Amino acid sequence: MKYFQVDPQVGNDEYEILKDCFDKRWLTEGPKTALLLSKLQEITSAEFVFPVPNGTLALYVALLALNPEPGDEIIIPSFTFYASASAAVFAGFKPVFCDVDPITFTIDPVSIEKKISKKTKAVMPVNIYGRAVTLNRVIDLCRRKGLKIIEDSAQAVGVYINNAHSGTLGDVGTLSFFADKTVTMGEGGAIITNDHELASRIKLLRNQGRENSGTFIHPSLGMNFRITDLQAAVGVAQLQKLPDIRSRKQKLFKLYHDHLSNIRDIILPTLNTIDNDVPFRFYLQSEESNELSKYLADRGVQTRSFFYPMHLQPVFTKMYPEQDSLPVSEYLFRTGLCLPLHTSLSDTDVSDICNHVKSYFS
Ligand SMILES: *Cc1c(COP(=O)(O)O)cnc(C)c1O
Repeated sequence: MKYFQVDPQVGNDEYEILKDCFDKRWLTEGPKTALLLSKLQEITSAEFVFPVPNGTLALYVALLALNPEPGDEIIIPSFTFYASASAAVFAGFKPVFCDVDPITFTIDPVSIEKKISKKTKAVMPVNIYGRAVTLNRVIDLCRRKGLKIIEDSAQAVGVYINNAHSGTLGDVGTLSFFADKTVTMGEGGAIITNDHELASRIKLLRNQGRENSGTFIHPSLGMNFRITDLQAAVGVAQLQKLPDIRSRKQKLFKLYHDHLSNIRDIILPTLNTIDNDVPFRFYLQSEESNELSKYLADRGVQTRSFFYPMHLQPVFTKMYPEQDSLPVSEYLFRTGLCLPLHTSLSDTDVSDICNHVKSYFS
């Protein structure tokens, strides 16, 4: 492959700050974690930020903090990464899948309404591909119905929607710092919230059921969902680069759009929010997405399909056999294709990739 899907931007800055961890011999949550938290607080304006080992556990702990009772349901978009749904199951929820908007790919309020039952306790909007998509109608609906909102903002670090950071629009939100995300710690995640009650539960759940380390009195049930200061250190170095990553990815996204705008047989993403996006992938839709993917692979371009819908996943159809068809999620999986979008791509790389796409369609 000449062009991979991801290429994490790690180098000297990360190396230097890691060296400092070793020099000072501080490996567990400590000075670098404190820096990471204040940086995340500054970026998200969330009152409480909790570091966790990855984005999946961020969802799991945040969902546990909602205190689900047996039979409680959570409405989750079918078009998302598997972890959104598996974390909900592990936390004790029954996942109920709904459809998404065909343009923004985020949870569709009309579809949510059809899925609300007496057992519905929460709704999980998922930000897809780092677009600054408004959730006003979803939030209004959930507030009216008394449903909790947990935002999976794994792909949306640095994305602001009407000046509020993604993940702070509902009750609690989660971020991921996996190697392919906007900024990375290798593995890593965070929970953000402005809700004092949820925050105090998350604090105990995360750290062995106690307020602080170093005491052996445990008032409640908790686990170890802490990180290392090594992860935090890498995160600190990465977050310094967020403004550059953001503007570079916006530029590349627009460049892709320019190059591909004359192809009649594909659907391109809208550009209306690009100045507020931190694009996670470039993507297009085509009825020939599979053939195009193979064609590009033969020419050194690694692609990714869109998510396989949750309501069709073998694991969930086995556990919850009664699933309605969700046409938008199915359509997106059939047609969607992601092209490489990362900061080591040059303008020429993007035009090279686009030339292959153009030649496929001509
Ligand atoms: C990456 C991702 C996750 C999981 O995060 P990890 O850090 O990989 O565990 C959850 N939801 C979405 C939408 C993601 O893209």
